[in-house]
Amino acid sequence: MADVLFGPHGPVTVPIARGGLFAVRRVYCVGRNYAEHAAEMGHDTREPPFFFGKPADALVTGGADIPYPSQTADFHHEIELVVAIGKDGSDIAPAEALGHVYGYAAGLDMTRRDLQAQAKKAGRPWDMAKGFDQSAPIGSIAPASAIGHPDSGAITLSVNGTQRQKGDLADQIWNVADTIAYLSSFVALRAGDLIMTGTPAGVGAVARGDVLEGAIAGVGTVRTRVV
Ligand code: MN
Repeated sequence: MADVLFGPHGPVTVPIARGGLFAVRRVYCVGRNYAEHAAEMGHDTREPPFFFGKPADALVTGGADIPYPSQTADFHHEIELVVAIGKDGSDIAPAEALGHVYGYAAGLDMTRRDLQAQAKKAGRPWDMAKGFDQSAPIGSIAPASAIGHPDSGAITLSVNGTQRQKGDLADQIWNVADTIAYLSSFVALRAGDLIMTGTPAGVGAVARGDVLEGAIAGVGTVRTRVV
């Protein structure tokens, strides 16, 4: 066997609420999945879902601090329901999709909004706006065997104790089952994949020193501080 330099890297893991670790393979994200957020970003609300990615090692666990990133002056929070896939599949039917879910967590799709706006305008990729280092704080994963498959309930984010984002999982344009079905028509999903399912209205900028606290009813919480 050939020598392998510098590897293997990882694994990247996320704590499971009742103990143990979930090894992450890929992180997929859904764009514009709540009508009010789509509207605040200037878009129609019934476009098909679209996807982008973050590197798995962008995840930040355990409530750790995140640095204010370089190359931005408009660093935004996006609270999101994160789906943790527990069973492989391609071209998954909507009726079968929830059977591929291991569990759920609360996560933050941190965004360099100014770079995203520039990329959109130029028709360029979003990677440096979305997939940068430490751009994905995440809480612990609650197994579906313990909490079921929540399809309604408050999803909120506060900054320094003041509520900024508030929505309801029932207001997702594409629910979890439809999202898994559609995403799996493009790529084979594998146990260990995470899907960040979009953010409700109220996104906004944060500054160094801000404490972000997100919560999803029946799922869990996520916390970080920008330093
Ligand atoms: Mn997002």
